Amino acid sequence: MIDFSLSEEQRAIRDWVRTFVRRELMPLENEALRRERQGHPPGLTAEERHGLRSLARSSGFWGVSTPQEYGGMGLDAVTEALIETELGRTFLTFKFGGEADNILYHADEEQRRRYLLPTIEGELRSCFAITEPGAGSDAKAIRTRAVRDGDAWVLNGEKTFITGGNEADFALVFAVTDPEKGADGGVTCFLVDRDMGWTSEPIDTMGERRPASLVFQDVRVPNANVLGEEGRGFALAMRWIGKGRYLLPARALGGCERLLDMAIEYSRTRETFGAPIADRQAIQWMIADSQTEIEALRLLVLHAAWLVSQGRDSRHAQSIAKLFGGVKANEIVDRVLQIHGGMGYTRELPIERFYRDLRLLRIFEGTDEIQRRTIARDLLKGHVKVGAGLT
Ligand SMILES: Cc1cc2nc3c(=O)[nH]c(=O)nc-3n(C[C@H](O)[C@H](O)[C@H](O)COP(=O)(O)OP(=O)(O)OC[C@H]3O[C@@H](n4cnc5c(N)ncnc54)[C@H](O)[C@@H]3O)c2cc1C
Repeated sequence: MIDFSLSEEQRAIRDWVRTFVRRELMPLENEALRRERQGHPPGLTAEERHGLRSLARSSGFWGVSTPQEYGGMGLDAVTEALIETELGRTFLTFKFGGEADNILYHADEEQRRRYLLPTIEGELRSCFAITEPGAGSDAKAIRTRAVRDGDAWVLNGEKTFITGGNEADFALVFAVTDPEKGADGGVTCFLVDRDMGWTSEPIDTMGERRPASLVFQDVRVPNANVLGEEGRGFALAMRWIGKGRYLLPARALGGCERLLDMAIEYSRTRETFGAPIADRQAIQWMIADSQTEIEALRLLVLHAAWLVSQGRDSRHAQSIAKLFGGVKANEIVDRVLQIHGGMGYTRELPIERFYRDLRLLRIFEGTDEIQRRTIARDLLKGHVKVGAGLT
């Protein structure tokens, strides 16, 4: 039996977030765009973000994916996808508070007290640092080195494109501890406080995200700050990336819905040659294709999320959802911009902002090409059979 309906709880949560986005976030958009036009950083200010999080928390909305024993809502992956889709309806990047990186739950007792709990509470900010100037898609090629020295490790190397790297109080750093073994047993994850000595520099980008490059020069890290097992860091990194890949296209889906709504509205009212452009087949086809792709994306995202919530192997489905979401969201925003003509190209409407931000989806957390590589490899090696999406 296939049941496409949401539970009552899921519907209530989705509607609550939808209202929150419409009432609290969307009214901040114009001001954020104005600030950006004047050269200020894009997105919400720290005060706005803090205020929104407090407001949500006062309604009990906090720690969406955080287990209940840590005070969170402990929601399942499908509900999380629904929430991300609603948040994606605004271009202002916002996450509810009360979250920590999934791999921080591998912390030992002391690390939990020092890192996990304060991160959940919002007292500490983390960043995830694996990419290096010479190792992006090929993450196994990282060269940041950690050498044992008594009861500490000495880290040397550079990380790049690290989201939140400028603001983070500590970094989850992946470094080579045994070059002979490489990624398979020779990479370790370290919890590295900023005041242990690493530095960061922002990287300007075309979108809201301003990642950072991090430099580690003889940074001493106590052995007590090894996260998980020594030598097992690469598996942790893949777990970090793999757990929430479906959330990226889930967010893009919300953006596409908003954009398509805008295109429908505009095409009804914009007249050329004596008739609304909505009467033209060229415009109707763009609307129809976008709607078809939005619905296909929804199913791919929810299927991947469902596999995650069932504890089943979701990697193949997540790669498909991420690839399709990245490619189609970029096609949809381009069509919506086209339907708006010159207005779409201006900064008076949020379309160009969505356009710039959605482009990132095809690059980070595995590029389009890397998702295709994974999907093809799964099939060619026989890990996944054609047509085995439903079991
Ligand atoms: C805004 C932003 C935020 C980011 N946040 C983080 C973060 O928080 N933490 C972190 O560790 N990293 C982060 N990254 C890094 C991101 O994950 C990498 O940029 C991404 O994995 C691609 O690596 P690369 O940029 O080195 O490109 P490369 O790996 O050099 O790839 C260049 C091009 O070659 C293609 N290519 C590579 N290998 C193959 C192949 N085998 N077959 C076919 N084509 C191939 C790629 O698809 C791409 O088109 C972020 C990046 C950006 C832009």
